[in-house]
Amino acid sequence: MANPRGFLNTPRRLPTRRPVDVRIADWKEVYTEFPSRDLERQAGRCMDCGIPFCHQGCPLGNLIPEWNDLISAGDWRAAVERLHATNNFPEFTGRLCPAPCESACVLGISPDSVSTGPVTIKQVEVSIIDRAWDEGWVPPRRPSPAAVAAGQKVAVIGSGPAGLAAAQQLTRAGHAVTVFERADAPGGLLRYGIPEFKMEKRHLDRRLVQMLAEGTEFRCGVEAGGDITAARLRRDHAAIVLACGATHARGLPVPGADLDGIHQAMDYLPLANRAVRAAAVPGDRPEPAISARGRHVVIIGGGDTGADCLGTALRQDAASVTQLEILPRPPDSRPAQQPWPTYPAIYRVSSAHEEGGDRVYAVSTQRFLADESGRVRALELIEVEMADGSFRPVPGTSRELRTDLVLLAMGFTGAEQGRLTCGLGVAFDERGNVARDRSFATSVPGVFVAGDMGRGQSLIVWAIAEGRSAAAAADAYLCGDSSLPAPIGARTVPLR
Ligand SMILES: Cc1cc2nc3c(=O)[nH]c(=O)nc-3n(C[C@H](O)[C@H](O)[C@H](O)COP(=O)(O)OP(=O)(O)OC[C@H]3O[C@@H](n4cnc5c(N)ncnc54)[C@H](O)[C@@H]3O)c2cc1C
Ligand code: SF4
Repeated sequence: MANPRGFLNTPRRLPTRRPVDVRIADWKEVYTEFPSRDLERQAGRCMDCGIPFCHQGCPLGNLIPEWNDLISAGDWRAAVERLHATNNFPEFTGRLCPAPCESACVLGISPDSVSTGPVTIKQVEVSIIDRAWDEGWVPPRRPSPAAVAAGQKVAVIGSGPAGLAAAQQLTRAGHAVTVFERADAPGGLLRYGIPEFKMEKRHLDRRLVQMLAEGTEFRCGVEAGGDITAARLRRDHAAIVLACGATHARGLPVPGADLDGIHQAMDYLPLANRAVRAAAVPGDRPEPAISARGRHVVIIGGGDTGADCLGTALRQDAASVTQLEILPRPPDSRPAQQPWPTYPAIYRVSSAHEEGGDRVYAVSTQRFLADESGRVRALELIEVEMADGSFRPVPGTSRELRTDLVLLAMGFTGAEQGRLTCGLGVAFDERGNVARDRSFATSVPGVFVAGDMGRGQSLIVWAIAEGRSAAAAADAYLCGDSSLPAPIGARTVPLR
């Protein structure tokens, strides 16, 4: 611990967001740069606890006190080595992770005290990796010729964070890895789900250049199970890692749900992301096929996907945006039944929420109403309360809400059961995910599964941890043993 009094003398400081009126006029990330000197002082707040609970909070087992110590001592170069020891893509998690590590930080036990409040772990993480890229400290790490000679052919299906992590680990172990991706570019939800204002795609593209230089091959625009059959994949590869995500979106089976103007969030967000990508060409201002411009938008679902729709709709100049949530408004501080060091369900204000729109809690949509052209013109909602474990409508609270664009952001119910999974013959579990044993092996020998496809809808940090562990399992299957790290087991769950 470089500064034994750091946590007493330095208050927690968070990064600053650009002014709302400035940032909603563009798609750039919302945060301003965090000055290095301040960052070193923030890292110096770490107490280097005997039992660092942040390790338990982080699914990757990031070595948080170690890099805090290095940063507070000004040794940024060593810090990035420690960061990469456990995390392939800290520039993704440092921007997008909800930071369960900070909820588990010992300094967060007593949030009311001035000197406490958790270490800004996530900010330290992203600052280390951003500086490392700027300084040229993130070179490709090619496997040794001996490892390549012993390597085998591996297919990774899907290029979200799970697939990318698995591919990078297996390539570095010497295997000849091909990533098959049905979209036109790699990244999964990092590219076409998550908006630019949360993570600019240049961070993803920069990492992909490193992966290409290390020897990972990408075949985009190729649907595994369709453009290349499951039988061919098996014949051409000694092992397969499935990382296709959980793409089955939850529907809302109420009258009028098939009207024009009602879309799944994941029909809307990719179009918006593609339009932003195309607009990077000077003079090109394409309007996506589904746009919120001038619309009264209602987002059904109060989670992160809903917040991404909100920030996107505001940047598209929506006339109004309302986000509906069936659950009651969460408490402002940690409830007694979710004690430290768990990640509590509390009221959070994301950058998108700060930018505008209304949030309405404890309501359920009963039906959608059409105008004369068959487009949604309103929805009817009713207040609900929890009784005996289910939501009950509160009589007399039904009302109409004007809308001409509805975005459904109610989560995902599992993986696709299509030509790929049928062709391979992998079994599914009762939750709609591809079934696996504790070491990520599916019911078919040599076929592994990682990320949302096996875990169900989750987070980027879990997807990367899964990709790393599944790579270790596949490597052990191919070589009889593996020195690749496996941060989690397939049954590992968050602290609760
Ligand atoms: C809108 C949205 C916002 C989110 N925001 C956050 C956030 O801020 N922070 C966070 O931690 N988590 C967030 N999440 C969750 C996070 O993005 C996911 O948990 C994570 O991306 C899962 O990674 P994955 O690699 O398992 O799958 P995905 O990222 O879903 O990638 C799967 C890939 O597989 C490809 N694929 C599927 N089938 C085939 C096939 N047959 N052949 C070839 N390719 C195929 C898909 O095209 C896709 O590219 C968000 C999710 C959504 C939907
Ligand atoms: S990946 Fe997430 S949980 Fe792990 S250290 Fe970074 S912010 Fe914390």
